[in-house]
Amino acid sequence: MSCLFCKIIAKEIPVKTVYEDETVFALEDINPQAPVHILIIPRKHISTVLDIGNDDHALIGHMFQVANKIATDKKVAERGFRLVMNCNRESGQTVFHIHLHLLAGRAMHWPPG
Ligand code: 5GP
Ligand code: ZN
Repeated sequence: MSCLFCKIIAKEIPVKTVYEDETVFALEDINPQAPVHILIIPRKHISTVLDIGNDDHALIGHMFQVANKIATDKKVAERGFRLVMNCNRESGQTVFHIHLHLLAGRAMHWPPG
């Protein structure tokens, strides 16, 4: 198993866990880009957005609901937050196991860099 996030989910690499259930895992990013920077990851290995299949719709929807819950628990929901999922090289994707970035706690710029 060479995937970093599969290793994290298998608890082979220690992380600061924020949330977990049967299908989703959430942790603090090791290199935070905002005061709140959490990664929401499916337990199922899906390499990129392009690999999301017809069986994954509920899982992807659940990831957004978990993001919603974490933003609410962290008390940043009212102020606002950004959800980002990078896909492939030019987007900046570096870990090829899909993950939703939850960024909050500062004003975000648009367009993103
Ligand atoms: P990407 O660039 O693929 O969209 O996002 C990958 C994210 O994973 C980056 O924000 C990076 O900081 C984070 N990351 C990479 N390795 C680790 C790690 O070992 N632990 C944690 N907690 N985050 C990691
Ligand atoms: Zn994986």
